[in-house]
Amino acid sequence: MVSNKMTVLVVEDDMAVCNLLSTALSSHGYAYATAMTGEEAVRSMAASMPDIVLLDLGLPDLDGVDVIRKVRTWSQVPIIVISARVDDTDKIEALDAGADDYLSKPFSVGELLARIRTTERHLRYMARDREPEVSVFHNGDLSIDFVAGTVQLEGKELHLTPIEYKLLCLLAQNVGRVLTHQFILREVWSGAAEGDLASLRVFMATLRKKIEKNSSHPRYIQTHVGVGYRMIRV
Ligand code: CA
Repeated sequence: MVSNKMTVLVVEDDMAVCNLLSTALSSHGYAYATAMTGEEAVRSMAASMPDIVLLDLGLPDLDGVDVIRKVRTWSQVPIIVISARVDDTDKIEALDAGADDYLSKPFSVGELLARIRTTERHLRYMARDREPEVSVFHNGDLSIDFVAGTVQLEGKELHLTPIEYKLLCLLAQNVGRVLTHQFILREVWSGAAEGDLASLRVFMATLRKKIEKNSSHPRYIQTHVGVGYRMIRV
């Protein structure tokens, strides 16, 4: 199984945290590399092409968000941001710059490994679906035919409003990524006046009623309180 080993790049300037993360990764069968600065991280991503990046936002030279912006000009490598601050603004900024997910300090090793497994699952699907134009999206019992503009759940066609459909397609096209409220509003409402957080919540609730069997335990769409939403690869 050695050839299947995922390589995780750990970008963290705090030596103790960096050691903790590297030890946890290697004891669970991952290969890892480390970088202590933003510049080193960018160089390492270009040179060794890791499968997943864990990125601390508070780095001594560059802001973590600038690292994401740089890397996103040429790479789609999954980036899980590690944020020390309590408020959500830095996470939101990082997600809008192209990060895929985030962990807030302090976090447990179990939580970290769970996020990495989720990312791995998405990577496997992405590798499988690499055909340039995937016209039908499948996730669990849900399927979206982008060409026909139809959605099915367990083989039955769902009737979605145009906004619900746009919302679902946006989440599906970014499956695995946490999308911020601001990003969703911009993409779905294209900045129209009615595009506010309250209406996003209303449309999300009606969409969930249609696709989730149990809306108090959603299977497909996760809520990230104060941040946004994410479609999970089930
Ligand atoms: Ca730091």
